[in-house]
Amino acid sequence: MRETKTEQRKKKNCSLCADKVEAIDYKDVAKLKKYLSEAGKILPRRVTGTCAYHQRMLTNAIKKAREAALIGYVFEN
Ligand SMILES: [Zn+2]
Repeated sequence: MRETKTEQRKKKNCSLCADKVEAIDYKDVAKLKKYLSEAGKILPRRVTGTCAYHQRMLTNAIKKAREAALIGYVFEN
């Protein structure tokens, strides 16, 4: 998909950029859960507005969290 350059002002929807997040702790389950669907799947960028950089970070963190059994594939709310 081609991105058109609009103005100089960058409006990012990425909440992690907004928070200036440089690293995501895989133990921070509360944060990770915000990027997971009810089925425990990682939400796509178009849903969360997360940038590619942070999306990759999230994916890795979520993977790690799963390996550490911190988060399951299905959540109870
Ligand atoms: Zn970002």
